[in-house]
Amino acid sequence: MKAVVFEDVGLAGLHDRAVPSCDAGDVLVEVAATGICGTDRAILLGEFPARRGVVLGHEAVGAVAATGSGVSSVAPGDRVVINPTYYCGRCRPCRRGMPAHCAAKAGREVGVDRDGTMADFAVVPEHFVHRLPASVSYRRGALVEPLACVLNNLRAARPRWDDQVLVIGAGPVGALCAMVLARRGSRVALVERDPGRAEIARLLLPRTVRVLAPEEAAGPGRPAPDVVVDTTGSLPGDVLGTVAAGGTVVVMGEREAGVATVRLRPLVTGGIRLTGAGPYRPADFELAVDLARDLPLDELVTHVLPLARYAEALALLAVAPDGPGRSPAGEYRAMKVLLAPDGSPTP
Ligand SMILES: [Zn+2]
Ligand SMILES: [Zn+2]
Repeated sequence: MKAVVFEDVGLAGLHDRAVPSCDAGDVLVEVAATGICGTDRAILLGEFPARRGVVLGHEAVGAVAATGSGVSSVAPGDRVVINPTYYCGRCRPCRRGMPAHCAAKAGREVGVDRDGTMADFAVVPEHFVHRLPASVSYRRGALVEPLACVLNNLRAARPRWDDQVLVIGAGPVGALCAMVLARRGSRVALVERDPGRAEIARLLLPRTVRVLAPEEAAGPGRPAPDVVVDTTGSLPGDVLGTVAAGGTVVVMGEREAGVATVRLRPLVTGGIRLTGAGPYRPADFELAVDLARDLPLDELVTHVLPLARYAEALALLAVAPDGPGRSPAGEYRAMKVLLAPDGSPTP
């Protein structure tokens, strides 16, 4: 089979790999599409550690091709979405109901240190495949995983009905935050520095979501946000000073080098909560599958390209994957980009 492999920082390649073998408790999935995530980008830019030689990709949908002898919940032909956040169920965080923070993650992170889904096939433990509802297309199902992440972080933000919410970053995760919040009636402003991304967000999102440049967000007359969700993982230093009393700041993006200098006084004087939540619990993933019946997640997909055109796909996301140490190459020209194996049904 063909697979997109992380060779080194700045370097990815299309490799021939054996179709992975399927043990008793495993499901072999013929991948229909994999979303390219900020994590894949960060790996290639050297901002997120990953194993050299790993098959990239973790946001995937496809059809069950084969099942191990012990598998009973799915059968060949079923359309499924993969939950790539594996956990052991035995460590202390798992036993305390925090499987997203499993202490035994090493070697289990799909597309990071365990082979991922930017390939014709991927093998997954039965526990981590979910059947897609018939009404959810592959194109839409490919956004279920980032939606699960968003649901977990919005729960940590605990927005109230009449809150003003500021989302930093109009990538797919920021756009999903805005989509979910707008649907529940919150007032949402989405801040994006990249003009290309801001323009795409304006076109795709409900009109109640205000998409602003950073200088507009801080301008006079703007209401102080009660909740800030920073999807960029960079926490602008002045953010705490702009949050309304009693407000909450949730940091989402995960970057190895994410360091921020913040003024601490507003935490005390404003009673502000600064927190992170990480990925999702299994129940969030199930909720995301359910919500996908109704939320127009597929509207965020701007491009679907075959695996062999992975370099072009990454270039749309401002990454040049063909030279060592390359850094972001200009502006974003896409929202969500999916890679689909050649010959797979159009998602
Ligand atoms: Zn992801
Ligand atoms: Zn665990």
